[in-house]
Formats: sequence, structure tokens, C-alpha cells
Amino acid sequence: MATPVKEKKYVYYFGGKKAEGDSDMKNLLGGKGANLAEMVNIGLPVPAGFTLSTEVCTSYYDNKRNYPKELKKQVLDALKRTEKEMGAVFGDKKNPLLVSVRSGARASMPGMMETVLNVGLNDITRDALIKKTNNPRFVLDSQRRLIQMYSDVVMEKAAGIEPKEGMGVRVQLERELHRLKEAKKYTSDTDLTTDDLKKLIEIYKKKVKEVLGKPFPEDAMEQLWGAIGAVFQSWNGKRAISYRRFEGIPDDWGTAVNVQSMVFGNMGDTSATGVAFTRNPATGEKYFYGEWLPNAQGEDVVAGIRTPNPINEVGKNEHTRHLTSLEKAMPRVYKELDAIQKKLEYHYRNMLDIEFTIQDGKLYMLQCRVGKRNGPAAVKMALEMFAEKLITREEAVMRVEPNQLDELLHPVLDPAAEKKVKPIAKGLPAGPGGATGQIVFTSEEAVAWAKKGKTVILVREETNPEDIEGMRAAQAILTARGGMTSHAALVARGWGKCCIVGAGTLKIEASKKTMKIDQVILKEGDYISLNGSKGYIYNGKLDMIKAAEENPDFQKFMKLCDAVRTMKIRTNADTPDDAVKARAFGAEGIGLFRTEHMFYGKNAEKPLFILRKMIVSKTVEERRKALDELFPFVKADIKQTLAAMDGYPVTVRTLDPPLHEFIPQHADGRKLIADSLKISMQEFDKRADALHETNPMMGHRGVRLGITYPEITEMQVRAVFEATAELLKDKKKPFPEIMIPVTCVDTELTDQYAIIDQVYAEVCAKFKIKEIPHLIGTMIEIPRAALTADKIAKVAQFFSFGTNDLTQMTFGFSRDDIGSFLPDYLEKKVLPVDPFNMLDREGVGQLIKIAVEKGRSTRKDLKIGICGEHGGEPSSIEFCYQQGFSYVSCSPFRVPIARLASAQARIRDLNTQAPVKKVAKKTVKSSSKPVKKATGKK
Ligand code: ADP
Ligand code: MG
Ligand code: MG
Repeated sequence: MATPVKEKKYVYYFGGKKAEGDSDMKNLLGGKGANLAEMVNIGLPVPAGFTLSTEVCTSYYDNKRNYPKELKKQVLDALKRTEKEMGAVFGDKKNPLLVSVRSGARASMPGMMETVLNVGLNDITRDALIKKTNNPRFVLDSQRRLIQMYSDVVMEKAAGIEPKEGMGVRVQLERELHRLKEAKKYTSDTDLTTDDLKKLIEIYKKKVKEVLGKPFPEDAMEQLWGAIGAVFQSWNGKRAISYRRFEGIPDDWGTAVNVQSMVFGNMGDTSATGVAFTRNPATGEKYFYGEWLPNAQGEDVVAGIRTPNPINEVGKNEHTRHLTSLEKAMPRVYKELDAIQKKLEYHYRNMLDIEFTIQDGKLYMLQCRVGKRNGPAAVKMALEMFAEKLITREEAVMRVEPNQLDELLHPVLDPAAEKKVKPIAKGLPAGPGGATGQIVFTSEEAVAWAKKGKTVILVREETNPEDIEGMRAAQAILTARGGMTSHAALVARGWGKCCIVGAGTLKIEASKKTMKIDQVILKEGDYISLNGSKGYIYNGKLDMIKAAEENPDFQKFMKLCDAVRTMKIRTNADTPDDAVKARAFGAEGIGLFRTEHMFYGKNAEKPLFILRKMIVSKTVEERRKALDELFPFVKADIKQTLAAMDGYPVTVRTLDPPLHEFIPQHADGRKLIADSLKISMQEFDKRADALHETNPMMGHRGVRLGITYPEITEMQVRAVFEATAELLKDKKKPFPEIMIPVTCVDTELTDQYAIIDQVYAEVCAKFKIKEIPHLIGTMIEIPRAALTADKIAKVAQFFSFGTNDLTQMTFGFSRDDIGSFLPDYLEKKVLPVDPFNMLDREGVGQLIKIAVEKGRSTRKDLKIGICGEHGGEPSSIEFCYQQGFSYVSCSPFRVPIARLASAQARIRDLNTQAPVKKVAKKTVKSSSKPVKKATGKK
């Protein structure tokens, strides 16, 4: 019977040669469903099935957890098609079809949501399947797995039952399994006989009824709908919600559900299952990389129950050399798989993460998706795929998340320190860089210790999604079990966190909070160090160093970014040393040079002493004398910085902080200055106290100091101009930009400009030069300045947005006091993010827009930049690009991130105007031959 035309489509079939969906339909079908459909469409062997769309999920939650009325019939229709394709019937007494029920959200949420395998098995279909396959062991094993998974996922978790630690139905069933094995003195699951398994299934059923008060459902249809419901429920499970919060995935996206014919990797020695990547996700190297297990079902690889084998010979390392690869064990199937992975990578033009199962020598693809990778790998792959002409330069630039660059600059254990000690254990290198910290054995402790400001390493037998918060809080993660695709490894890689898995010699006793490695016993709180790139574990606290920025891949990638971007990147540097470092990171000038920093830190004693004298001076004469003394120091500092940035502009900000900040607290310090000024301590204290302010943030600072004490401005700009003139004489190319802070009205600038003009003329005359190249501008950090930017731009030749203060002034949030309330704002979602971290486009951004527009209405070529913390934050950088900024300025270590973020902002902008030209996507004809072009050389 034909379905009515108007009926909304909720279910999408895939199988045979053609699917109803494709990889562009991720929003509707979820990532897994869309890619299963795509694999069918390009002719890969995929077990048939169908996808219930994410709209079912949203409709379900919008309608008090009821399905749309069209759903049932659509599911049954799709099931019919599946049965026809597979030549078996769901729930049939003679020729039964089994299915898996798999979750699949738009964005991958590894291990967060539930999957139930072997749905449709009961005592009757079991016997039919035994007859059909002549393999009772495998059928019984599958039934046992179904009961275990189903009772846990559907009957317990989805029903909202929260059992006490160790009392969950899954654990209790596992205990029964152990009991049986112990009684029979078996060491491995595979020792169980068919009779044992039969008995175990009966024990399981009894236990399920006992624990959950309900029998395990024997009816196949009831199982199917139960499992579907459980996947939808799992979208709103605690850990899924918590994961979404961390990853910023909206709650209303919903998950899809995939119902797919089962294929069996546990049918014997010609069957297997595995997980692989088209390139190595930890290093980016171009070779097929993965793990497999003979005679197993898929979850075994991910769960870390058995340590898997390497998929091929090239992927072997010193820990896995003795294991059998799929390449050796099943050469024909391996070849087919290798051809498929090449075809897939070429088709998707990206590194993919794939899941497959081999049933009795026949290969099936169960999943593919764009693979997670760490920062170094992302950079390497982007560069190589660009070189292979698989992707364009713009695509290569888009392939690396700005924050991933941090990992290339990731701290590592100091190699010198590492050389001196021997590792106490080894594991699989699952995450980049190094870490050192105190060990804790539970997720809760990791969170609690981290809250107290401790650096911890979370040590677990294996991790599961319940550990997420602890993993997040920990500096690094170490597990005793599991492979490179285990939960711990996947999650850590996604975050770029140092991680070692499968360190088999660790004997963890979590209840006693100790672990033993050979003879060494380590307790909670003891220090260990990890080398996540090699898999080495050390006792004690080793020194760490920042990773080398000389990494050739990194430099090459930065060049790609620079070729694309148009906005300049400057740095905030307070010392000549900072300036040199920032140049190495690619800074194209200094956007903020805070002269007051010469009064702190190295060699600051003398100038600080003079500055203090200047501050407590009472008469202009006293003050001028002190300023004259100070002058050579200021000039030298500025000159060195200009020289370090030769050829690039340096924004020198005039003195900004309130003066009383520099007054010594202690009597000794005060006495020294008093003596030097030849005044009494009493007099000194009186003068110092006069400087006290109730609200110094809005007090006597910035340009206001220059208004009250013109001689301070005078001394500073003289230092700038003389330093520049001297460098010019040395044939250098200095370019100072004098920046007046805390301006709120144009007349402040007019006042200061007169002083600057006068000094400029004097310095030119003194050095007998006609012109000293420079600009004079202002910070925009007070809302009034933004609102009157047209007037301000009459005087100022450039604006630099001081978004720290501008945010403070716009929100009325004291930067120094947000600690007491901002966490509550974020917790209660009153604010989505900390506005001091990510620029508030709606409020502060509006002021910026107004200021840019008004400023440029007066002065077309007005130079515009930003020097607040936001200058190093990718989303804020994008905003600056969109407003037509000339540059952003950030701390030296953020410069590479800003270069990338700025390039990406431009690409996104071009894409919205006209899509970036892609490398022609050739449709690969379905065949098992490898696609030559995508292979390249090894
Ligand atoms: P996740 O998205 O959490 O990885 P999956 O839906 O991929 O969960 O299921 C977990 C594992 O179950 C898969 O890796 C796969 O090996 C196995 N699996 C799922 N569906 C089938 C199927 N139809 N036949 C055989 N194995 C399956
Ligand atoms: Mg999967
Ligand atoms: Mg400021």
C-alpha cells in the first residue's frame, strides 16, 4: 500500500546498492547514519539497515516522550526491506535476522550513548540460528552478550535506575560469569563450553529478574522497541549531558538511532573485528593504522577487555611486535580492507576512523567518520594532504583548530632529565607531550584535588565515560588496560591531553589507593611523570620544558596561514626579551608595550627608586629632577625594544597605572626615599597617603596623569623620539606608535598632543633630522571614547581597543573581583562564557562597531587594533577581522594561534561570499581496486 504523500519521513533505509541518505545529511541522520548511507552509495559492503532521524528524538522530547504516530509503520516497512536484502526475517522461528541498535548524534560523542547488539535473540531464534550456522558456541555467546547489554542499557540505565556501586546488573552478571569460570578453573572466556554457556544464560535470566524485578524480554519486537527507546533516553542520560556541556554541543540537536543487521566477528577463527584509521592519528604519519581482535565482537576492542593486535606490520612497535597482524593472519581480507580505506580517504578527502567486522572471511564496514587527531598530527596531515593535492591550501588551513596549535607547543619532559632515569613501566603512547603530577585513583579525587590547585595524574584500570570529569581535571591519564582506540586514548587525543594506556605491569588496587609496579609501590599523592609520546612512565617528578617551536611542520603550516590571512598579528611585549621571543613566533610588531614594566622584575631597582621619588615629589622642580634621572632608563628600555622589532611598529603606551601602586609598603623602603628627598618620614607618609584612592581603577591614572603632570608625558615622549632618532642614525627602521591610555574625551588628546608636538620639534632639532616616523593614537577602553570616536579620531591616528578595561566598564564587572560571582553566572547560564575570555559581541562588540564606524568616518585610514586578552582568542579574533581591524595583538605564545585564527576568519569570510574552490571531487567507481592517486608513497 502506498504511503500518503504528505506523511513526514522519519526513517531512512540503507542497504544493497543505494541508500536514502548520504553524508551531507548529518543533521538529520546523525554522523553514523549519514556515513553508513554514504558507504552504501559508494559501493562498500555494509550490512543493511535503517536510521530513525534526529527529528524523532526532538519530537519525542517535545511530546512528553511519545513517538510521532507515523514512526511505527515506517520502521516496520524499513525492517521489511532490510529482511529482504539480508535474506532473513526478524524474530523468525527458522531463519532469524538479528540487528544492532546504535546511537548516532550529529557530532561524535565517543562512548557516551548506548548501543545494543544481537537484538532479536531469544531461546527460539537461538535454536534456529544454531541450526543455520552449525555454530552453537557463537550463538550462545551472542545471547549471553545480549542479556548482559540489554539488561544494563535498556532495563536499568534507560529506566533511570541508579544502583549502588558494584550492584549494577551488568557487574552482577559479570560476577556470575567469573564464578562459573572459577568453579571450572577456566582462565579465558573462550574456555566456556556450549553447555556452560547454556547454563550461564539461565543463570543470567534468573539474576536479571532478581535484580530488576522484571524478566528479560523474549519477544524480538519488544527487544527492538526497548532498545530504540533506550538510545533516545541515553541522549538525556547524565554523562551525555555532561559531555555535551564540555564540548558545547546543543541539547536540542538530538540523536538518531541506527538499526542494522548484525554481522558476527565472533563466529570463530575466520572472524574478527577491528577499528582503524586511514593515517596514524597520534603522529599524522601516512600509513593505515589500526587494531583488531580475532573471534570477537566490536565492543571488545573499544572496551579494552582484551589488548588488541596491530592491524599490519608497519604499525607494530616495540610493545606489539610479537602479536599477529591482520595482514599476516588474513592477507586476502586485509588487502580488501586496505583498498577500502584508501578509497574512503580519497572520497572523503580526510583522515577517517573506521570500524569493520569480518564474518567467516567476509568483510563488512560498520562505521566511518572523520577521525580525531591531536595537534601535531592535524598539522602534518593538513600539510601532506595539501602536498598530495587532495585538499586546497584553504582547506588545509581549516583542518587545524587554533587551540590545537597549543599541542605543538606542548610541554614535554625534559629529555636531559629523562635520560638520567629509567622508566618503571611502559604503555601505549596515546597522547602528546609529557606530564608530571600526583597520582589519584578515582575520577572524584582527580576533580577534588584539582580544585585544590594540585596537579594530578589519573590512574585507572581502564576509563569509561563516567570518568570524564576526572579525566578533564587531571593533567594526564594512565591506564593499565586498553589499546590506542580505548576510551581513555580517544578522549585524551580529542583533548590533546597527555595519556598512556595499556601499561600492563601496573597492578592497581584502587580500594587501597595504591599501585604496584614490579617492586615499587606507589600511593595516592605520590609523584609520577609520563612521556605520552613514547609511553614511558617514571617514578617521581621530572623537569618539564616547552616543546620546540622549531618543529619544521609547524613553521610550514604557519606559512600557509600567512599566505591566506590579511590581518596583521602583533604581540604584547613588555621587555626587549619578550620582543625577541615574539619575533620568533611570527609577530609583526608590538601592539602593546607597557613601559611601567621596567619598574618590576630584572634590574628594576634603580629606576623604581627614582620613579618613587618622582611620585612623592611635591613641586614641579622636585618632580622634574626625578624625571631627568629616570629619563635614560626609559629611553634605553624603549630603544632596545624598538631595535628588537626593527622594521615593525611598536606601540608604546604612556604610563597607565595609578601612581600609589608604586609606593613601597614597608617603612624601610619609605625611609630610603624620604632621605633621598631630604624630607621627614612624617612628611613622606602624608604625601603617600594623599595618593590613596577609594576606587583606583577609575582614579588618577592613564592620560589623567599626563593632564595633571605634563612633565611626565614630556619625559616619556622625549625618550621615544630620542631612541628612535638614534636608531635612525644607525640606519635602522624603528617605527614607534605613541599610545595614550584611558582616554574618554577628545580634548584630553588635544592637550597631550600639544606636549608631544613640542617635544617632537625639539628632538628633531637636536638630532638635526626633518622627520621621525611615528604615529600618535589612543586606547579605546572607556565606553564614552567609543561613542565619541569620530571626534577622537580627529586627533588620534590609530585606535587600539583595550578590551579588558572596555569589558570591565561595559559590564560594570570589576576585573579583580569577578571570582566571587562569575562562576555562578556561568553555572546558572546567566552568561554563556566569561566575557573577559571571549569577547562579548553583543554588548562590548557593539561599542567596538560604533567606534570603528565613527572613527573611520573622520579618518579613512585610521589604523585599528586590539591589545586586550581577547586578541589571542580565536572567536574574538574572528570578530576583529569582521570589523576590519588592521591587526590583533596578543601574548607571544598566542601569536601562532592568532595567525591561524586570522587566516581561518578570512577563509570563512571568502566562503560566505563564494565557496572556496575545492579540488575536484571525483566520484570513485565502486570497485575494490585501490585508488592510485590517493595512495601516494609510503
Ligand atoms: P559507538 O558509536 O559508541 O562506537 P557503535 O554503534 O559503533 O557504538 O557500536 C559499538 C560496536 O558494536 C561497533 O564498533 C561494532 O563493532 C559493533 N556493532 C555495531 N553494530 C553492529 C552490527 N550490525 N554488526 C556487528 N557489530 C556491530
Ligand atoms: Mg562506533
Ligand atoms: Mg587599560
